[in-house]
Amino acid sequence: MNTRSLFRVCNKLIGPSIACTPCRHVGTYKTVKRPDPSTLKMPAPGTAPKLMEIIKEKIRLKGPLSVAEYMHIVITNPTEGYYMKKETIGESGDFITSPEISQLFGEIVGIWFYAETQKMGMGPGRPLQIVELGPGKGTLMSDVLRVLHRLGYKPKDLSIHLVEISDTMQTVQAHQLCASHKGCDVDSPHYCEGETTSGIKVYWYYDLKKVPCNFSWYIAHEFFDVLPIHKFEKTEEGWRELLIDIDENEKLYYRISAKETNNVNNLIRPPLDGGDRTELEVSARGLGIARQLAQRVDGYGGLALIADYGHSGEKGDTFRAFHKHKVVNPLETPGASDLTADVDFSQLRVAASMTPGDENYALVVGPVTQRDFLRRTQAEARLKVLIDHAKSDEQKETLQAAYEMLIDPEKMGERFKFMAFYPSAMAAILEKYPPIGFSNLEKETK
Ligand code: SAH
Repeated sequence: MNTRSLFRVCNKLIGPSIACTPCRHVGTYKTVKRPDPSTLKMPAPGTAPKLMEIIKEKIRLKGPLSVAEYMHIVITNPTEGYYMKKETIGESGDFITSPEISQLFGEIVGIWFYAETQKMGMGPGRPLQIVELGPGKGTLMSDVLRVLHRLGYKPKDLSIHLVEISDTMQTVQAHQLCASHKGCDVDSPHYCEGETTSGIKVYWYYDLKKVPCNFSWYIAHEFFDVLPIHKFEKTEEGWRELLIDIDENEKLYYRISAKETNNVNNLIRPPLDGGDRTELEVSARGLGIARQLAQRVDGYGGLALIADYGHSGEKGDTFRAFHKHKVVNPLETPGASDLTADVDFSQLRVAASMTPGDENYALVVGPVTQRDFLRRTQAEARLKVLIDHAKSDEQKETLQAAYEMLIDPEKMGERFKFMAFYPSAMAAILEKYPPIGFSNLEKETK
């Protein structure tokens, strides 16, 4: 079956459902109320929480922090960390993400996984783990589950594994996805477990390493961009690391390390040597997770889809903070704004396929822009189905506006990129049936 017919069949199967009523159970998921993208609010200044004192104390005791150490504290501090706050994602939060903008996004992701899994001879009736890294409000997962339900996956064959660092976000996800959930004792690999209304088991982990190694779909949407990065600058003496220190006015500022730090020696080496760039950002954590995903996909079967802001190795200074949908100084109000850095997909590619020919490396495809990915996966046809079944003109306009926001090159269409990992054993199959969404060979993409 070619791509066009596959997606047409999927569209028919998943039907016209529109998820716009809050907190109503339908099958395996609760439906979601999404904001109108045109009504996103503008910023109001935040106040510095206690996290600033924690950071300054650490610098006074230990010396300047690397940007990665700073990000780690700001994002993951168990009480004051950014994601421990309630309102982070969405209209009233600091940023909005594609799954929160349109149900179409998660539905297309679900169809993509389904279609690519068919190439492996797998599908409904076989056990499937769905693993999501940094699931946010659980909206993407709930949209994927709705699609799978329509495509014939039975709850008994499915399990959901969520890697989430924040207990606050975990609770939000549990309310979105589960009929019941409970915390687990420390001996358990997962810290919490629950069940959807249709009986799918849901597990939460702090670390991907604890997720069972089975055939899985791995989804990481806007996850890699929050992982801590090291920042480097090329000086006349060679690469130096950017550090965070306290100035005479008690404010945080960047300074360049006088000597090479260990991070310079460990992280900047071929093929990750920065090329012609004079500024470089490297996430050791991100590289480690990309490597793990590749090994899991290759060793135990499955697929990984990574979608994020990013570039292919041409940028070197992208570290920034968002507060109430506006870019702010990352050093000013730690904990009150989201810290993020564009994902360097060229580095992920290296991490996932560093030793081709050896065991456990993945076939890496992408990055392609969100615009290309969505258009090649027939998102427009899906949009038409949704619009045809919308209840009012206003709903039609909202659906159209949300789609435009996702694909408009000036908005999210070009800045967001998709990359996928396939088992290396699929090389010949992918040669014959190129990865959907990543190849522009298909006529229907034009
Ligand atoms: N994928 C969601 C949310 C993106 S925000 C969406 O697109 O809407 C980032 C998510 O990653 C949040 O849920 C945050 O709590 C989680 N997170 C941040 N750092 C993490 C880490 N080190 N490990 C696991 N989850 C993390």
